[in-house]
Amino acid sequence: MELPADFQFDFKQKRVLVTGAGKGIGREIARMLHRSNAQVIALSRTGRDLQSLNEEIGCETIIAELADPDAAKRAAERAGNVDHLVNNAAIAILEPFLKITVDAWDKTMAVNLRGVMIVSQVIARQMIERGVAGSIVNVSSMAAFQALPDHAAYCAAKAGLDQLTAVMAVELGQHKIRVNSVNPTVVLTDMGKRAWSDPAKGGPMLARIPLRRFAECEDIASVVCFLLTDGAAMLNGLALRIDGGFLVT
Ligand code: NDP
Repeated sequence: MELPADFQFDFKQKRVLVTGAGKGIGREIARMLHRSNAQVIALSRTGRDLQSLNEEIGCETIIAELADPDAAKRAAERAGNVDHLVNNAAIAILEPFLKITVDAWDKTMAVNLRGVMIVSQVIARQMIERGVAGSIVNVSSMAAFQALPDHAAYCAAKAGLDQLTAVMAVELGQHKIRVNSVNPTVVLTDMGKRAWSDPAKGGPMLARIPLRRFAECEDIASVVCFLLTDGAAMLNGLALRIDGGFLVT
């Protein structure tokens, strides 16, 4: 079952910053926000992805490497006044635990965890200064709950991200800023294909999902958009599984 093509939220021209908007899930979040009347600020690494997204939806674009703390801060400042934030950018470097390199570990933490902290700090400060009751959604993963072989750094970063979400929710709630995570199962984006397109790996995962399919980018985007809206006004500090029922089996 798919979302109807005319399904949409209404963001009433609110400005929404989406990181990792060049490809995959982030790109679909940007598209859905645009269809829902948001002004999208798309941040990513590869210029041609942002250029093609701009041609498609007419968004503002920021090229930045979020692994670099100064670049991440400057990029968030460049975004200006923002009403909502989606921290979606992440990397997955697959290595067996016994072979993890310090470089891969540090890069994973820098993008998937520290980058979220830096961008969110800048955006939350300006939301507070402007008295904006904004919403922040962090795109985490089922890997925060589930131990996946070859994903030690990724799993640790995503579990850390959920706890960062929780503390942000606790501290920012008094400013009427809500912070939630979403925790998707496999989506066959570039990242998802690298980890799961081998049937020997993907097959057993798929077999445990009661809905018998992996998620599509739209499945994640629609939940992210919902969490940004006032329809989710009392949702704060969640780590919300989008897994077709995987974890209840
Ligand atoms: P993709 O690899 O398809 O896209 C990731 C996007 O983030 C790209 O546009 C990429 O830019 C950008 N990005 C990555 N690193 C950086 C960086 N250092 N600085 C700026 N931008 C960066 O990933 P997905 O769409 O699959 O993943 C999106 C989110 O969903 C991630 O947080 C991921 O962990 C999460 N997720 C994904 C799942 C899956 O199965 N696909 C399952 C569960 C969670 P560029 O291409 O230029 O590097």
